[in-house]
Amino acid sequence: MNKDLERKIFENFPELFPRLKKTAHYAYGGVYSISVGDGWYAIIHNACSLIKNRLENKSEMEGATLISIEDFYNEIEGMDDIDESDRIKYYIIPEFSEIKEKYGELRLYISDPNNDDYIDGILDMATKISTVTCECCGRPSKRRNDAGWIVNQCKVCFFKEKRRKARRIDMQTTLNYGAVDED
Ligand SMILES: [Zn+2]
Repeated sequence: MNKDLERKIFENFPELFPRLKKTAHYAYGGVYSISVGDGWYAIIHNACSLIKNRLENKSEMEGATLISIEDFYNEIEGMDDIDESDRIKYYIIPEFSEIKEKYGELRLYISDPNNDDYIDGILDMATKISTVTCECCGRPSKRRNDAGWIVNQCKVCFFKEKRRKARRIDMQTTLNYGAVDED
């Protein structure tokens, strides 16, 4: 993903990417990288937004204390038992671990100690929407088979990409055999 779009997601939802702040050089993408095309930016941004709403609801409506995974485990260290009431008192902020493409689908992986079905639903919905959205440009699309690779690109992007690849192979051929032809 274009680094500016990636940065927007990290900056708008820092609580979902908490280890970003702790890297020595504060290098965006050093800890997390969003390795999908720009066409899926809106889907990811919306999924993060819905998760953020969930956090706000948990804290405002249900009175739970929001806590990071790291702080939660520091808090319970030394306790003999974690009982369910601790989980209810705290709503642990889930943390993204990986965002990538697989078989032409967007896959969002998250660590969520709450095992919140609502969050699972958001992630499933994001994956479903990605199956009908071009990974390159965001227009309506479907999954296509490109010589054994499943990709999700609209017709325009699919053939543009095919031409780009063909040109690359042409260039490669010229580079490899060019010298032999000149005798
Ligand atoms: Zn497209």
